[in-house]
Amino acid sequence: MQLIDGKAVSAAVKERIRAEIEREGFDIGLAVIIVGNDPASRVYVNNKKKACEVCGIRSYEYALPEETTLEQLLELIDTLNSSKNVNGILCQLPLPKHIDEQKVIAAISPLKDVDAFSAVNVGHIMIGDYTFLPCTPAGVMELIHSTGTDVSGKQCVVIGRSNIVGKPMAMLLLHENGTVTVCHSRTKDLAEVCRRADILVSAVGKADFVTADMVKDGAIVIDVGMNRNAEGKLCGDVKFDEVAPKCSHITPVPGGVGPMTIAMLMQNTLMAKRLQVENG
Ligand code: NAP
Repeated sequence: MQLIDGKAVSAAVKERIRAEIEREGFDIGLAVIIVGNDPASRVYVNNKKKACEVCGIRSYEYALPEETTLEQLLELIDTLNSSKNVNGILCQLPLPKHIDEQKVIAAISPLKDVDAFSAVNVGHIMIGDYTFLPCTPAGVMELIHSTGTDVSGKQCVVIGRSNIVGKPMAMLLLHENGTVTVCHSRTKDLAEVCRRADILVSAVGKADFVTADMVKDGAIVIDVGMNRNAEGKLCGDVKFDEVAPKCSHITPVPGGVGPMTIAMLMQNTLMAKRLQVENG
């Protein structure tokens, strides 16, 4: 069994981005909006700001109070959409319940939508013409590539069908000619379906969900889950100690997919700058 080191792969990606930005002499800005006081969101936003520093991207943080209205948020996005200093805009999810997330996502200019959540960018991902990469699934693909595995013809099983992870994950595996099965809470005989996987990606959000009986010998297991266990420690979906000995490769949590998501966000921010330069 080999551990896939997400920290090392993400450091290499960020280093490549930093070198490209330096070579092209780009001045790039990413606006990060956070609404309310969710501690997990605060950690993610801080990590994104740190990654910006590493890559040589300016980050502009907009920390808004919990009671911010949809109208106020849309007004800010409107200003950022037309700002020359801001090349990418991300609004940290989840938003407080009184704000319609879809309206916020739709308001971000598709040329600055570095999370690739808007309908336009999701459409590009479906077609396989990547304007912006879906960050978490693209990070997973980089980790799979780092093992030297060719996805073509492999049985790929994705557990989870969210718009942010499961569905775009399935698309990226399909674009690389994997034979893809997407599982969800209504899937029958889940363990049996998962046991077919050469590549198993879990994006469920439940600790200890993937057990050894669900994994084929020699499979690659990618754990997207970010959960807290009974002791409050960060953990994934996979029961690591019993699954790891069966795998050819496996990602740890933390230190697997998480750092890759942020590296792909940096990649998209560079891409946004290029697009905006091309579009005048
Ligand atoms: P989500 O929107 O809650 O989706 C969870 C998916 O799991 C749903 O499709 C759900 O099925 C499925 N599911 C739930 N219970 C199941 C069961 N018993 N059997 C089979 N499928 C089941 O979550 P998400 O946003 O995709 O995130 C998933 C996990 O990834 C979370 O832990 C999240 O924190 C983590 N995450 C990590 C990163 C990262 O950078 N590492 C990024 C994003 C998310 P239904 O559709 O039928 O309800």
